[in-house]
Amino acid sequence: MTKQEILDTIELRQSTLKTWLNCAMMYKFRHIDKLEPSFRYPGTVHGSALHLVLAWLHEGQWKGDLRALYTKALNYQLYASEEEHIPVRWKGDQETEIEKLKLNAVEILENYRSKDYNRDALVLFAEVQFRVNILSYSFTGTIDQVRKNPDGTVELLDFKSSQMRPNYYAIPNDIQLSLYAYALKYGQLLVDGIWVKPNMLLDSVGIYFLRGHEIYKRKVPGKEVGDEKGSPFIRTTKTIQDLRAFRTEIRHQLSAMVKPWYYPNTASGACSYCSYAEHCIARNDTIPEKQADEAQLLLAELNMA
Ligand code: SF4
Repeated sequence: MTKQEILDTIELRQSTLKTWLNCAMMYKFRHIDKLEPSFRYPGTVHGSALHLVLAWLHEGQWKGDLRALYTKALNYQLYASEEEHIPVRWKGDQETEIEKLKLNAVEILENYRSKDYNRDALVLFAEVQFRVNILSYSFTGTIDQVRKNPDGTVELLDFKSSQMRPNYYAIPNDIQLSLYAYALKYGQLLVDGIWVKPNMLLDSVGIYFLRGHEIYKRKVPGKEVGDEKGSPFIRTTKTIQDLRAFRTEIRHQLSAMVKPWYYPNTASGACSYCSYAEHCIARNDTIPEKQADEAQLLLAELNMA
């Protein structure tokens, strides 16, 4: 594939960059070959459902029934979203697993709602689409939340619900956060069907780690039963100089992304839980594609493929 063909094939979304940085091979499968993952993890579906409920809370349903809101959001993610046809890899009995997700969601959302800093924040944008040109390439994506805090500061938050707390020291270099901050300064947001230019330089950007609102069920050193696991905020700042440095970083990443060779990231340990592992195992870079296809056909005839 030529550089132009690759550029014509990929969509420059925040998820494209994220996948590229995680594993170049996965980036090829997902964004160039347009292959779908073999499965979805319940945790990913849970995170997407929580995002929806958080947007609804700030859109006028602050006092809503959390279990009912979460159930509606989860059902949407499971049965009506763009990915509804991709099976979910449940660990055990589906109903039991879903009940656990609901209990966890209510615990997180109740504690989110109990905080003055959330109740009193003025949410300017939630789950809002953006588009921004960088070096004549158009990047698109979705920003979780931009809020005006009671002290007047404006901050961008990316909600995370992974099991592990994101690394504090990695946040200043998080390329997705830089892309969001860049889009708010130089790009456009889709608000009520109209593209607007917010031209915002934020006071802070950061991760809102939702599992910080989970509570300890057992006593651990320094914490009592019922205590929350910790502050959900992991913040950094993005100055104009940082945004310029980000533009340079994008140039470097893009020049590598459009070269037609891709290296599996087997060093990170991500392969063991990768939803593209089946595609990855099937690849064989040392055998030409035509020869591999012929071998597959022969195996199929022998009922061995
Ligand atoms: S299995 Fe490993 S190398 Fe292959 S796509 Fe997934 S993360 Fe990348």
